[in-house]
Amino acid sequence: EASDLLRGALLGLSKSDLVRTTIEKAPVSRDVVARYVPGTTVADAVQATAELRATNRLATLDYLGEDTTERAQAEHTRDTYVALLDALARADLSQYAAAEVSLKLSALGQYLPKDGDAIALGLAREICTAAERAGTTVTLDMEDHTTTDRTLAVLHELRADFPWVGAVVQSYLKRTLGDCRDLAVAGSRVRLCKGAYKEPASVAYQDKADVDLSYVRCLKVLMAGEGHPMVASHDPRLIEIAQALAAHHERTPETYEFQMLYGIRPDEQKRIADRGAQMRVYIPFGDEWYGYLMRRMAERPANTMFFMRSLITK
Ligand code: FAD
Repeated sequence: EASDLLRGALLGLSKSDLVRTTIEKAPVSRDVVARYVPGTTVADAVQATAELRATNRLATLDYLGEDTTERAQAEHTRDTYVALLDALARADLSQYAAAEVSLKLSALGQYLPKDGDAIALGLAREICTAAERAGTTVTLDMEDHTTTDRTLAVLHELRADFPWVGAVVQSYLKRTLGDCRDLAVAGSRVRLCKGAYKEPASVAYQDKADVDLSYVRCLKVLMAGEGHPMVASHDPRLIEIAQALAAHHERTPETYEFQMLYGIRPDEQKRIADRGAQMRVYIPFGDEWYGYLMRRMAERPANTMFFMRSLITK
């Protein structure tokens, strides 16, 4: 199908340095970027959080960056998260996890040639300490399937000291139902998403319908379990099913939450929050928006055309 081809091409381009520099330098693309990424600085991130809080939405903040190959860059990422958490606390936005942070281990040095996992774990620990001080939590984003086991191992280590660290699982991976069973335990925060990377058929469902069916199977396990499910999707059908399952298991609103990305279905975000359910918005910020934005484009061919046109015609 044409949209599958486009999706594959965009996910391929998300790893291209040449296209990345060209697009990052195009000043015209800023308008389109701004819809999904509210700004580049900690102050921008705090302001976006305050605006969401005004309509009762919760936040999880992501300092953009991935696949770091230099230790100094990984340390800079740690510093930015610590500064962000301190700023959220000063603005009274972080208590009771009203605003938390999402981390990518690859931005914290997971791919460094020597001791990558240990370096990422050490830096993540420092961020967890800052989060604890700010009265909030941390969630470990999940990246491509070659890192799943390593990321779950780091999660396990972090949870020994910080039991509130959240996990992410992706329903497109065939292994995920088993991971949900392992993770659906008391106190365990688990974000369920469909998955955003290009993955081979050996490990991942390729058909959208199969990814959705897997999502429902995983939801059933998480909602029936003792943990705190975080339903990360913009898909109206899956949101409805999540609500029905929560009702079936007599879950109260504070025992689970919905999550969506900044700039996507904002009216629906507000409706869900107005109903009294917890709605958390994932807010990315920083200069390194290229990979993030290309994954969003791969999900919405219509947006891609809009974006491409803005590059050419302005
Ligand atoms: P899709 O199948 O993409 O969309 C389903 C329906 O949602 C569409 O038919 C449409 O009705 C609606 N919709 C979707 N996009 C739009 C739009 N732009 N405008 C209007 N309607 C729209 N992925 C990872 O791999 N690792 C992570 O750690 C991770 N963290 C995430 C955290 C959060 C909070 C969220 C929301 C997503 C995260 N993702 C992550 C991305 C996720 O895996 C999906 O790629 C992404 O959410 C798109 O899937 P979807 O469930 O929204 O369904």
